[in-house]
Amino acid sequence: MLEKVVIANRGEIALRILRACRELGIKTVAVHSSADRDLKHVLLADESVCIGPPASAQSYLNVPAIISAAEVTDAVAIHPGYGFLSENADFAERVEQSGFIFIGPRPETIRLMGDKISAIKAMKGSGVPCVPGSEGPLGDDEDKIRVLARKIGYPVIIKAAGGGGGRGMRVVHSEAALLQAIAMTRTEAGNAFGNDTVYMEKFLENPRHIEFQVLADQHGNAICLGERDCSTQRRHQKVVEESPAPGLSDKQRKKMSEICVKACKKIGYRGAGTFEFLYENDEFYFIEMNTRVQVEHPVTEMVTGIDIVREQLRVAAGERLSYEQKDIVLRGHAIECRINAEDPANFMPSPGMITRYHAPGGPGVRVDSHIYSGYKVPPYYDSMIGKLIVHGDTRESALARMSNALAEIVVEGIKTNIPLQRDILMDAAFMAGGVNIHYLEKKLGL
Ligand code: ADP
Repeated sequence: MLEKVVIANRGEIALRILRACRELGIKTVAVHSSADRDLKHVLLADESVCIGPPASAQSYLNVPAIISAAEVTDAVAIHPGYGFLSENADFAERVEQSGFIFIGPRPETIRLMGDKISAIKAMKGSGVPCVPGSEGPLGDDEDKIRVLARKIGYPVIIKAAGGGGGRGMRVVHSEAALLQAIAMTRTEAGNAFGNDTVYMEKFLENPRHIEFQVLADQHGNAICLGERDCSTQRRHQKVVEESPAPGLSDKQRKKMSEICVKACKKIGYRGAGTFEFLYENDEFYFIEMNTRVQVEHPVTEMVTGIDIVREQLRVAAGERLSYEQKDIVLRGHAIECRINAEDPANFMPSPGMITRYHAPGGPGVRVDSHIYSGYKVPPYYDSMIGKLIVHGDTRESALARMSNALAEIVVEGIKTNIPLQRDILMDAAFMAGGVNIHYLEKKLGL
């Protein structure tokens, strides 16, 4: 097993990784910014190294500082968590070139999946269903572009190959607006991502977001841990996630799981990953692959009983997956609510001192959070301060448990989105299951 791992992240995921390492007897090094000395995992880690000032660019994105920290502490591997450097192929490459294990896929895989056009091409070649669209980048021939859009059928969406975080896309409803929309997306993409390559897809009007979790080892084995429905979103940010997806049949699940496993084997995938799909009229359309552990991984852990972070560590150490596909049984239903330090009325971040904190409990309740009474939420980073996850035998019992847990949790001193989460849990359409990606924004009147 790995002897010592650098945790190159912060907040709840850093604590999650630390816990998995401890269970496996792996020593931990917390690398943190000067604003994060009081983070729970920094206090619990075997060693900690301050790698820079509060600004992420100088700390959590500071590649030389992270690699130096691994060197001076004699660590053998680096876990990037999610966000920050987790999907940065150059970072993964530097880690490996410096003689450490990168806990994630091979750098070439991250690069392949990081460019949306090459990702779609690879997925199509592996038999994964994709959104109807341009085969590759849009060129300069205006007539060809018009013909293509007519063939796909309006509305279409113009997307940047290098886009991410919900940025770099534009919906076009008619031919009159087409060329200008392409020009604008190109300019924006060039400025934002340093790559002005764009492509075109059919715009799906009322899809759900359903994603499949995979795990693969370095011995050619890959398995799928079922799906998560993450349709409850605001500005492309997930707010509530659940597994299984309401209404999805065993047959559909099995078919998509097999497709994802086959694609993993074809591209030589390694570690944990997620295939994201839009789902409309009983059809799945691949949009992208996330080559890292995801925020919402706990709902999958709750229904499968598998520790995904533990498998990431084992696979990175060169071991075989602990499970075969036939071992994967989805039991019951799990829901996750993200808890953010933000004003529920206007979504403005609300950093500051947490004066009082009570975690909810009871059967099937899990809290993944780094906060404690007296902890000061710094203003420099993402506003998510934790995740509340519940499991029940049925979706109904999971909903009841989540409602209880949201009623019990107390976070004082800062504003949080807990009131919004309580509203969502009482919403009739959400309770019925299967809302689409626009539902929350419509409910909020956005
Ligand atoms: P990013 O990498 O920026 O997250 P994605 O390709 O994953 O970009 O798309 C983000 C979101 O944009 C999707 O979850 C969906 O809401 C919307 N979207 C992307 N492509 C389409 C499409 N073809 N039709 C409808 N909505 C889309």
